[in-house]
Amino acid sequence: MAEKPLYIGIDLGGTDIKAGLVTASGAQIAVASTPTGGDEGRDAVIGRIVSLVRQMCARVGKRGRVRAMGIGSPGPINSRTGTIYFAPNLPGWRNVRLAALVGRATGIPAFLINDANAAAWGEKCAGAGRNAASFVMYTLGTGIGGGVILDNKLLEGYEGTAGELGHTVVEPGGRLCGCGNRGCLEAYASAPAIVKEYFVRAHYAKPKSPCAGQRRCATNAADEMVVDPRTVCRLAHRGCPHAKAAIESAARYLGIAIGNMVNVFNPELVVIGGGLGQAGAVVLDPIRRSALGNILPPLRKKVKIVPARLGNSAGIIGAAAWAAMSSRECGKK
Ligand SMILES: [Zn+2]
Repeated sequence: MAEKPLYIGIDLGGTDIKAGLVTASGAQIAVASTPTGGDEGRDAVIGRIVSLVRQMCARVGKRGRVRAMGIGSPGPINSRTGTIYFAPNLPGWRNVRLAALVGRATGIPAFLINDANAAAWGEKCAGAGRNAASFVMYTLGTGIGGGVILDNKLLEGYEGTAGELGHTVVEPGGRLCGCGNRGCLEAYASAPAIVKEYFVRAHYAKPKSPCAGQRRCATNAADEMVVDPRTVCRLAHRGCPHAKAAIESAARYLGIAIGNMVNVFNPELVVIGGGLGQAGAVVLDPIRRSALGNILPPLRKKVKIVPARLGNSAGIIGAAAWAAMSSRECGKK
């Protein structure tokens, strides 16, 4: 009997590196993670990735054989050469040929994919986009990433950097974004942007605002440190006007970006992932309202805006599925 093919998915984040052993149908059979420790330098991080890959291989047993691994990485990358151009959360990473380095150290073919593209591909293979041939996915977190699935294929572009949906300009000459440009969606609708917006509104509210007596409504600088996006969503759910306004503001910009993407790509779905995607109607309804006003009238009723389904596993499952597809394509050549 032929051995079952298994794949390893790696999610390389600024805080943690997560790994999973994944079947060809997208089921995770083992997971492990370790702190990234990016300040210890590139080689230490690569060493941790290699160690996680070995841990996953040790869990295979008689279940099958590891055919390939996919590494989902932040930052602009070249998926064709397996190179990370640079990673904002990993100091000193410039032009790192990560796929080749990890592949050589482990003896397993490795393929690189942008982390948000990996999450979109994961949702395509085993999540919210499973039955959709074309969809656009936004990952709303510390940054905003994305992926465009068009006619059952991940849109990669010339070098594999396509899908940087957080860096579409929604406010000409607006706020400075981490990428160096101004007015990017990420500067208005990422989790830190929402927290900041909430804090500014709560801080400058008149004392007799409807929220003045509410517990946990941040009104001093120390509070800004402890308010996270989940708290803002919870407060909005309870009716805090500042939290609601902060989410409305982010949703207004997201609706502009989503409208543009829908009008260009004609997707069946827009999938909202990341922590904010899981917050439910309090976040999704304002996004839907705003997007609707920017989508071409004939398309409005057809496109659905839905939450992602795989949560934090999307990146691992997507990277593994990407490796499965890429290794098959390599075999054909
Ligand atoms: Zn930007």
